[in-house]
Amino acid sequence: MFTAFLIKYAEIGIKGKNRYLFEDALIQQIKYALKKCEGEFTIRKTMGRIFVEAQSTFDFDETVEHLKRVFGIWGICPVIYVEDEGWEKLCERVVRYLDEVYPDKHKTFKVNARRSRKNYPKDSMEINRDMGEALLKAFPELQVDVHRPDILLNIEVREKIYVYSEIIPGPGGMPVGTGGKAMLLLSGGIDSPVAGYMIAKRGVKIDAVYFHAPPYTSDRAKQKVVDLARLVSRYTGPIYLHVINFTDIQLYIYENAPHEELTIIMRRYMMRIAEAIAKKTECLGLITGESIGQVASQTMNSLIATNEVCELPVYRPLIGFDKEEIVEVAKKIDTYETSIQPFEDCCTIFVAKHPVTKPNVNIIRKHEKHMEEKLGELMQTALDTNELIIVS
Ligand code: ATP
Ligand code: MG
Repeated sequence: MFTAFLIKYAEIGIKGKNRYLFEDALIQQIKYALKKCEGEFTIRKTMGRIFVEAQSTFDFDETVEHLKRVFGIWGICPVIYVEDEGWEKLCERVVRYLDEVYPDKHKTFKVNARRSRKNYPKDSMEINRDMGEALLKAFPELQVDVHRPDILLNIEVREKIYVYSEIIPGPGGMPVGTGGKAMLLLSGGIDSPVAGYMIAKRGVKIDAVYFHAPPYTSDRAKQKVVDLARLVSRYTGPIYLHVINFTDIQLYIYENAPHEELTIIMRRYMMRIAEAIAKKTECLGLITGESIGQVASQTMNSLIATNEVCELPVYRPLIGFDKEEIVEVAKKIDTYETSIQPFEDCCTIFVAKHPVTKPNVNIIRKHEKHMEEKLGELMQTALDTNELIIVS
């Protein structure tokens, strides 16, 4: 029945020059999302509105599902186009539309007409009044409410006549690409995919880095991270995933550092490497899935220690989230089931029984000093042998 979608977006803060950037990025992301849908679509921008028009048969549910993943979309309105074949025909068509979309007629409604084609014989007030009458006649259970109607029936007269009333909520946020780019530290856990999703929602494009420690972590563990990146990319667009071989660095730290400081020092090296790639790839920040107090390496003291090795800002969107709240988002975005697959993680293999929860940064720095030279070399090798996987 539907032939198009009117895409509604929040307009606050996108006036003037920004508006055009916002709309173009949004169109770009809509195109990307629809590439994987059955059917041909064209996207049209007119007078501050975006229409997605089907040029062939298409799967309604699938298309809506994909549009719901495009950040920047506030609402998705399925639209029917009616040929202008006179008032009677239009009334018939609108009555049928209402009948199909709202099986239960015990509702209030209001007609909201807009006449973009000025040679149409009725003006918008007349359309509102006459269509309202036609609907009341067809469905006596309906009631008019001009202030807070259950159904706001929009009728727009253009070349054709557009009719729509439903608004399917979009994900909100800003179109990816309007907010720069950041480097996500993506592990195989529950948290980091959610963190990437949340920052991308603000319009930020995402690259990712994964620290792999073969043979201690398997190819399956790496594949799981690629799978997670793919799930996140349904929202963010293509992700450049850097896979860093971290084994030698971890072994060296394991052999040369006090065991209770292993995790912290390892995390500091992850941050250093992530930042080095970030700077080379024009990322404006790092993103992690850390949350205060979740584990020993995420106490506020530990966060001082991991934070101080970076110059770029580190975005931690989950910082105040409880695990259940993170799980809720992970389920919503469909990463949860993949995240809980039981593959080893490089952090769980080289782990101390009693990690420090209040690391003293001065002491950590002193211990790192002895390892600095060798770790510097190993870091360079890790960066030079970086494997790039483009996930989309
Ligand atoms: P997650 O569920 O995201 O793995 P976590 O609760 O296991 O998080 P940690 O292992 O302490 O927490 O890691 C904290 C953050 O460090 C992660 O959210 C992620 O951003 C990053 N991180 C940890 N391990 C890796 C890894 N192997 N590769 C890339 N990033 C990692
Ligand atoms: Mg982890």
